[in-house]
Amino acid sequence: MTDRLCRGLVPSTGLRAVFVRVGDTARMARMLHGLYPTSAHLFAEALAAGALLGALQKEKGRVNLQVECDGPIGGIFVDADPDGQLRGYVRRPAVHFPGDQARGARAALGGSGFLSVLRDPGGGQYYRSAVQLEALDLAADLRRWFAASEQVASALDLAVLARDGEPLADVAGLLVQPLPGGDAAALEAARARLAGGALPRALAAGASAQEVIRAVAGDGFDLLANVEVAYRCGCSPERARAAVSALGADGVAEVLANEREAVVTCEFCRSRFVVTEPELADIRRRLEERDRAG
Ligand SMILES: [Zn+2]
Repeated sequence: MTDRLCRGLVPSTGLRAVFVRVGDTARMARMLHGLYPTSAHLFAEALAAGALLGALQKEKGRVNLQVECDGPIGGIFVDADPDGQLRGYVRRPAVHFPGDQARGARAALGGSGFLSVLRDPGGGQYYRSAVQLEALDLAADLRRWFAASEQVASALDLAVLARDGEPLADVAGLLVQPLPGGDAAALEAARARLAGGALPRALAAGASAQEVIRAVAGDGFDLLANVEVAYRCGCSPERARAAVSALGADGVAEVLANEREAVVTCEFCRSRFVVTEPELADIRRRLEERDRAG
């Protein structure tokens, strides 16, 4: 089962549905960031949520899902786009509450915080909207975000399924929304099915993406897109040098005088970039020229 993002419509009821499956991505991210079980569980949910949000963006758009909280995990960040590219990090990777994982996830989030979504439709203009964490449950608080920010009724659930000792065996998210003029009763029915546990039940039964969507959104689903989801990062040596430039001429001079090279680690993919002494000298020279000109 590879990670996929499936989008489509149920024309008879005017509903649209997005289903994402991100188990491989979540297990890969767990290894990459060295996540303990509770951090890994929350990050898996956040990756599913980010993939759903990414699927709603227009071509070339991006979306960031950010959770800030006072619990031990501190915060979660996911960056996603409509082509199924995901990356992110949790603030504190080493959080583990033994026992029930849903309860552990709630404890890791703590008592208060907020969930915010930053959208860049592609034109360099950003839109942010946020809600306070109330349920301290990612799916429930994301439902509240949709209700507050999108002003369109939504049915949504996230699920992380353990199997054969693998806590992240299946990780998925499903979102159902009405198109303009869509059937409100059909949406309400989808919402009731999700509230009744339809998503984890379908996953446990080994359902395919389209079977999961049919089980929640009803028969007659037309698939419009089916794309691969993967953990991908756009970092590069150029971006590492840009990050060093942000220190300013004095900051770069200080690095040159002390460490003589800068090591930049990407927080998304843990790639290490070394900015060498000649490169630092070149960056300092250009920053000084700019300062003199400015
Ligand atoms: Zn990276």
